[in-house]
Amino acid sequence: MAYKFVDNYRERGARKKLVEHLKSRGIADERVLTAIGKVPRHFFFDETFWNQAYKDIAFPIGDGQTISQPYTVAYQSELLHIVKGDKVLEIGTGSGYQTCILMELGAEVYTIERQESIYKHTIRVLPGMGYKANFFFGDGSMGIADHAPYSKIIVTAGAPFVPEILLKQLKIGGILVIPVGNEHSQTMVTVIRVNETEYERFELDTFRFVPLVGDQAW
Ligand code: SAH
Repeated sequence: MAYKFVDNYRERGARKKLVEHLKSRGIADERVLTAIGKVPRHFFFDETFWNQAYKDIAFPIGDGQTISQPYTVAYQSELLHIVKGDKVLEIGTGSGYQTCILMELGAEVYTIERQESIYKHTIRVLPGMGYKANFFFGDGSMGIADHAPYSKIIVTAGAPFVPEILLKQLKIGGILVIPVGNEHSQTMVTVIRVNETEYERFELDTFRFVPLVGDQAW
């Protein structure tokens, strides 16, 4: 399957257009736009569907899994304000596309997935593309205490509430980005850890994610 990792002018062109589209939708962080412009999203697709890879849509990529919509990935990435060397916990590895964007932004990524088939697929595919994240299998709704604290935490599945246990795994000054709501729609929530005991919470736009399933979730 060596053909899979070919980045032709057609895909590069489509990727540039996607970046312009995201700009027009309000993504302003140049570093995030550059990261989107770098990660070959078609590598996550079967060649038959390469014509779908740079549309701003979520897409089923087999195994019952979906690659997130580029706008959503860019939106969450922007909210995280990643700086080089940030230790980031990602809950819901899925395809690993968001993981790659975080790594392009200079983060050291710890990512956890609860579905074994997806986990097994992604730990093979991502390093093959050159993205060597720290992969974990299990319920991420409780974070990963062993590697805490994190500069940033991103949840890429819809949660019923903000798990307290995740807040405790944030560094002071750290940011959590998590979609919170019901099964149909979620509000993007960011929580900043101000000090040992205080947090500031902001509510932003509405999205639709697959559910976060686990001990501190659905
Ligand atoms: N970030 C992915 C999209 C992930 S879709 C991308 O860039 O394409 C959400 C993923 O979260 C699914 O793969 C789902 O299995 C996973 N998930 C749901 N609940 C979870 C939990 N408690 N812990 C870890 N992963 C979870």
